[in-house]
Amino acid sequence: MKVTVDLDKCEQNALCTGIAPTVFELSPDDHLTVLDDNPDDDLTPSIRAAAAACPRQAILLTGA
Ligand code: SF4
Repeated sequence: MKVTVDLDKCEQNALCTGIAPTVFELSPDDHLTVLDDNPDDDLTPSIRAAAAACPRQAILLTGA
């Protein structure tokens, strides 16, 4: 699975970082970073949960 975030949609509310903290990180200056854009399969459930929780539909999952 490839994980990307549409930063134009992201509103930096940190929902995804709380659900999948090893994949998503919010910097002190409110910039969202994908720490691991090709994560192991065991992280798939938490990444899907993060994508579902994102109110802006900013998390894009491909090849899943
Ligand atoms: S849940 Fe969505 S809007 Fe919130 S920080 Fe993550 S990508 Fe951005």
